[in-house]
Formats: sequence, structure tokens, C-alpha cells
Amino acid sequence: MIIFGTKGYLYQLAILTFVCGQCGNPAAHTLRKRVTKFTLFFVPLFPISTKYVTQCTFCGAEQKVTGEQAEQLQAQAAGGYGGQAQGQPQQQPYQS
Ligand SMILES: [Zn+2]
Repeated sequence: MIIFGTKGYLYQLAILTFVCGQCGNPAAHTLRKRVTKFTLFFVPLFPISTKYVTQCTFCGAEQKVTGEQAEQLQAQAAGGYGGQAQGQPQQQPYQS
């Protein structure tokens, strides 16, 4: 008997402040990477989908971004705002 499925992983890449397209507030937005991995006998083998989203912390609106945009946003977060506190990227496995 073969048991297979998928498992989702959520990585928080950066926190950025920009004006939200949804609520119009200059709010903090989290940049997250969502990876879905194929699992065999509950062992994650390889990623089958990778998505990037930003989420407004004010209104909760999510916006999909491309991998390229995500890289740019990360670079912006790392260098653009000097002195902004940055936590370590978090790895939070979640069930999809
Ligand atoms: Zn918003």
C-alpha cells in the first residue's frame, strides 16, 4: 500500500511597509512564500507548487506576486529601510 499526498509549508520572507491597494493605508505587509510538496509515506519529496503572496496587516487583503516581484520586495526590505527590525525567516508547516 502506497500512501501519498501533499503538505504545505509557509515561509515568512519579509515585512514591508507600503500603501495597501485594498484599504489605502500605509500599513505593514508580510511577504510569504507558500510551498506545496509532494509527500510519499508522509515524507516530503519535492515541491509541486510555489506561490508568493503579500498580506496587508491592516485589512488582511492578500495579493499574489510573482517570484521576481518577491525577490525585489525582499531586496527592498533588506536594504531599503535602514534600522527596521527584521526577524529571522520563520518556517511554519501547515496542513493544506
Ligand atoms: Zn489593507
